[in-house]
Amino acid sequence: MEISFAGKAALVTGAGKGIGRATALVLARYGARVTAVTRTQADLDSLVQECASIIPVCVDLADWAATEAVLRDIGRIDLLVNNAACAKLQPFLEVTPDQFDQSFNVNVKAVLHVSQIVAHGMKARGSGGSIVNVSSQASQCALRDHAVYCSTKGALDMLTKVMALELGPYQIRVNSVNPTAVMTEMGRLGWSDPEKARTMTSRIPLGRFAEVEDVVNSILFLLSDKSNMTNGVTLPVDGGFLAC
Ligand code: NDP
Repeated sequence: MEISFAGKAALVTGAGKGIGRATALVLARYGARVTAVTRTQADLDSLVQECASIIPVCVDLADWAATEAVLRDIGRIDLLVNNAACAKLQPFLEVTPDQFDQSFNVNVKAVLHVSQIVAHGMKARGSGGSIVNVSSQASQCALRDHAVYCSTKGALDMLTKVMALELGPYQIRVNSVNPTAVMTEMGRLGWSDPEKARTMTSRIPLGRFAEVEDVVNSILFLLSDKSNMTNGVTLPVDGGFLAC
């Protein structure tokens, strides 16, 4: 299956590290003009060093006004990947209000905001588009110490479906990918302990965590015209975890 993004403009959030960074690089390799959004300038510097065509945008997506200021005049975007998220693990009884607010601001509110900005442009141009939200298996399955993270991803799945419903008439498709653990910086935070990792991999029929590339490939599929009739799905990339 050949996928090309030649002539397309893409925006990827959380593109400094992990899944977002890999997605930005692959989209650029497949011909898209990529805008990479993240909050650490050093990550953007190294990204542009790796791929000179990438347009860097440095902003903390938890800050609504700052996000509005940098993305308001972003211009044409055909493909959006809402990937940025934070995951601070706390037992339910110790969850703090600041952690709750920070997580919902980045993992849900910023997705809504960036998507509004981009979708307004897509609607005005009448050219349609594709949006992929990076969710998690944690949206649909309770994980210890993940009360806030699970809640944000559950909210994100429902946001994905409502966006699909309301933006569909403008030929804007909205889907999510829902990976199991991936050993990025975020993944290492939760799953570095081999004992804990085993409790998870033993519940995954394929018996292993996902690789960054597994998630990127599913994102590419949902962005591409190969999934033209797919709208409002939450696509597990979890080796079967959610099926059991
Ligand atoms: P990483 O922590 O490796 O990368 C996250 C990126 O998002 C970083 O570049 C980070 O920047 C950026 N980011 C975080 N907060 C903000 C913010 N407020 N403003 C701008 N940028 C921000 O995470 P992953 O690549 O592992 O995760 C990517 C997505 O995949 C997330 O949505 C995550 O929930 C999801 N996911 C991850 C899994 C895993 O096990 N890794 C499993 C399932 C889903 P900085 O480093 O500067 O904070």
